[in-house]
Amino acid sequence: MKTDIEIANSVTPQPIEKIAEQLNISKEDLYLYGPYKAKLNLSLAENRPSKGKLILVTAINPTPAGEGKTTTTVGLGDALAKAGHRTVIALREPSLGPVFGIKGGATGGGYAQVIPMEDINLHFTGDMHAITAANNLLAAAIDNHIHQGNALGIDPRRIIWKRCLDMNDRALRKIVCSLGGPTNGMPREEGFDITVASEVMAILCLAKDLEDLKTRLGRIVVAENFSGDYVLAKDLEVQGAMAMLLKDALKPNLVQTLEHTPAIIHGGPFANIAHGCNSVTATKMALAFGDIAVTEAGFGADLGAEKFFDIKCRYAGLTPDAVVVVATVRALKYNGGLPKSELEAENLPALEKGLPNLLRHLDNIQNVYGLPAVVAINRFPTDTEAEINLIRKACERQGVEVALSEVWAKGSAGGAELAKAVLSLLQAPRDFRYAYQLEAPIEVKIRELVQKIYHGRDVTFSKTAQNAIAHLTAAGYAHLPICMAKTQYSFSDDATQLGAPEGFTVTVQDLHVSAGAGFIVVLCGNILTMPGLPKKPAANQMDIAADGTITGLF
Ligand code: ADP
Ligand code: MG
Repeated sequence: MKTDIEIANSVTPQPIEKIAEQLNISKEDLYLYGPYKAKLNLSLAENRPSKGKLILVTAINPTPAGEGKTTTTVGLGDALAKAGHRTVIALREPSLGPVFGIKGGATGGGYAQVIPMEDINLHFTGDMHAITAANNLLAAAIDNHIHQGNALGIDPRRIIWKRCLDMNDRALRKIVCSLGGPTNGMPREEGFDITVASEVMAILCLAKDLEDLKTRLGRIVVAENFSGDYVLAKDLEVQGAMAMLLKDALKPNLVQTLEHTPAIIHGGPFANIAHGCNSVTATKMALAFGDIAVTEAGFGADLGAEKFFDIKCRYAGLTPDAVVVVATVRALKYNGGLPKSELEAENLPALEKGLPNLLRHLDNIQNVYGLPAVVAINRFPTDTEAEINLIRKACERQGVEVALSEVWAKGSAGGAELAKAVLSLLQAPRDFRYAYQLEAPIEVKIRELVQKIYHGRDVTFSKTAQNAIAHLTAAGYAHLPICMAKTQYSFSDDATQLGAPEGFTVTVQDLHVSAGAGFIVVLCGNILTMPGLPKKPAANQMDIAADGTITGLF
């Protein structure tokens, strides 16, 4: 069997100008990064109606391997294009952390990939580097301000802003900086986040244009002063320089799939402490230039889709048309309590036990958000007919069609059934609404998400969380949307409660404001913002030959 990189290299990409031509985008609006990648002129979507239909691809609660959302998004895009619809795919940019860690890249897999996959998974067009630089400029400005006399009275023990790096490196999670005497600044506790967890990434993904970007950067809360008041990035007067560093990163990137369907890949924020979707500009361009735009949200629908609807769509004024929920037989059995080692063999009782996870996500999409949904079973060779029928029957009882997707093995041909189901869904009635209203107090918004989306009984707030809510409310941030940071493995805040747990209480431990991005981050449990590498990192398998041939990248 061919590896992802072998399949990717077996296809000759079309020049990126030809891909742009499919969308009537002229050469003048392309900023070329070699023959197969281009940035798009930001003003392209301005004054153009978002005429396309918006399809969100989301999933059940994932297993540690990822269940095929990106693969399904790419394959569905190709299948819709094959069926004669002008389709544009919008995806997140991969981070180097997972590329070298466990999960690997984020360009899909098998015969449903975006190319050039080695470029997209590595430095691509440099967006990650620009974000890292902008983030670290702000960090440098904070320490320099303190060193130069600290006119703002920044409390070095209460600095919120961290440095960042696009690498899984647990050694940098907590460090002490500025050691070595007075010329090196004021020693203090510091830490690094991975770049995709930086608020700058979330801001880039929600900003409309350069002006909006700069305003948002200025609003970032970086620290507290000795009186406990918030210090903002604009107090340090660096938002202009940060925006300047991001001038090209703000432009969406155009590439293509293995079957030459246009794909706009731009921005990739974490889906726990941030909202987990590609940039608003990428989605809007996909809608302006495609009749159908297919996009993906991170993790399961309880986190990814919820934030896509309640944060991204709300801010960008987008109305989704249909939702694809990706499930695998394996992941449903895992949600039914089966250990990873036993997922290959047929096991109907475990599947039956895991199915409520899928049904609950479907219920949320249909009844909380008012959107039509279809289930895509991302097919693995080990799936049996009996297992697939069991899923089909359960979903049909809930009025939801199930389509088998074999895009990983067959490309667009394997996505024909799913494309057909999605097209018929576009005729279905919809009544899109958000899960909560912004005007409600912070506690009420959180409780609504816990009860409506997670189906938990209640929420408890730690003393720290209660204080944070009071502080954020007094500072005028209570009207912002909520960004829940909890485990992706469970509807609850306990990663071991798989399937569709009931009667649980979610404990909120702390809250932060990402005032530039424009949401309140609600921390339920210990959320890692700087991952570590596993015992045997994916990096160990990777190589590049003298002729430039890459192996081991997936
Ligand atoms: P997600 O977007 O949900 O995290 P991905 O689409 O990135 O998931 O897929 C995760 C991994 O699983 C990738 O390495 C991909 O190649 C692989 N994969 C996806 N679908 C299949 C399939 N049907 N059969 C085998 N491997 C698959
Ligand atoms: Mg993905």
